[in-house]
Order: sequence, then C-alpha cells, then structure tokens
Amino acid sequence: MRRSIVAGNWKMHGSQEQALRFCEALSAAPLAAEVELVVFPPVAYLGLFAANVSQEGVQFGAQDLHPSPEGAHTGDISGEMIADLGGRWVLVGHSERRREHREDDALVAAKVRAALAVGLKPIVCVGETLAQRRADAANAVVADQLRTVLDAVGPEGLVRGAVAYEPVWAIGTGASAAPEQAEAMHGVIRQTLAVRDAALAEEQLRVLYGGSVTADNAADLFHQPNVDGGLVGGASLEAESFLAIAAAAG
Ligand code: PEP
Repeated sequence: MRRSIVAGNWKMHGSQEQALRFCEALSAAPLAAEVELVVFPPVAYLGLFAANVSQEGVQFGAQDLHPSPEGAHTGDISGEMIADLGGRWVLVGHSERRREHREDDALVAAKVRAALAVGLKPIVCVGETLAQRRADAANAVVADQLRTVLDAVGPEGLVRGAVAYEPVWAIGTGASAAPEQAEAMHGVIRQTLAVRDAALAEEQLRVLYGGSVTADNAADLFHQPNVDGGLVGGASLEAESFLAIAAAAG
C-alpha cells in the first residue's frame, strides 16, 4: 500500500505574514493519517515554517539544493543545511530550474545523490514540453530523465523519495493534464523502474502528478491507480485550497 503525498511548492511567492497564517491554519486543521503533507516554502521562510508548524503530520523541505556538501557557492544551500533546519524533503529537477538555471539530467542526478547522502527525501520532477508531446516524444523524454537518476542512485535510492510527473505545458497554465494522460505517463514511470526492480516499482514508488492541480480537479487525478498524490504550485499558497486538495487524496 503506497501512502499518498500531497506536496505544496510555493516557488518564489509568499511573505512572513502569509507563511505564519498558513502555519496557523495547518496546525489547527484535522489531517488525514493516510496522506503525507509536505510543504516547500522559499528557503527564506524555512526557519519560520519550522518554528510555527505544530502538526506532527506536516513535513517540509526546500525547493532545491546544491550537489556539493559545502563550499564557495554564493546564494546556494546544501542538503545538510536543509536537514539542519528540520527539513526532510527536497525538490530536485523542477522544470523551472531546468529551464531558468539550465539544469541538465546529470546535475539533477548529482543533486538527488547529494540529498540522499544527508538523509533527505528527494522529489524528482520529470516532464515533457508541449513540443515534445506534439512530436510524440513525451514517453521517451520522461523515461530518459528518470533513467539518469536511476543510474546514479538505483531503485532503492529513488524510492526513498518520490517522482513528480509535471508536464511543462500544464504548470501554472490552468490546463491540467487529463486524468487519463496523467495515468498513462505514471504507468510509463512505474514501468521504467519495474524493468530494474518490479517489486519496488509496484509497492514503494510514489508518483505524484503536478501541473495546475486545484481543489476541483484533484480527486479525479488522484483516483487514478498509478497516481499517488500531487505536487501543487499556485493552489498550495493558501491553506484552505491546499487542505482541500489534501482531502481529495484521502
Ligand atoms: C509546480 O510548481 O510544481 C506546479 C505544479 O505548479 P502549478 O500547480 O501552479 O501548476
């Protein structure tokens, strides 16, 4: 039985005031035990989040990490620092980082390795662009992105975290993938792992869907057999919509 995850990626949004309000609402809310809640605030608010979220069931992490444990890397953050603040998760390979910071599959794999080395659980983001989908290359692109990570950390490493399928064309556009499209690609992702370890793929790999998830479409997406929850951007900034999405995974 794979436990669902609903994760919120605030990206570069929010303020101390918004983060405090969110923590207060989350701390007072009844949470379903069968869903893991994870929040990725901007790193500037990680300490504030850690100090103010008082629910056992809510975990948090950072949106990125540097592949090195420490060093002269101005503006970056290490996995050790995230763990030191109480973070247990980290996003790796989000398409915005792949695009804006030119992160390639090799760097993504190095970051996943660095996260695992300090006990963080990486959520590895994969997904195709619209042009790749139109060229019928979506499955191959996503499987390749995943294989590079698998080569680096093996099936056991991958299942310590999770995979998020985030079609680039669905992120922040309001045009979510159809549940059947998500289900089909989640099947490809599970199969890519199953080739190396069928039992881990079936029993342990959690594959989240991300891309314009809202309280209205979450249940249809999450009820697909290969969808184990979601990675939510815009709709995770307010506790009310984030909790409504979490309830859809329960
Ligand atoms: C994301 O940032 O990972 C994301 C899926 O964003 P949104 O939900 O806003 O599309």
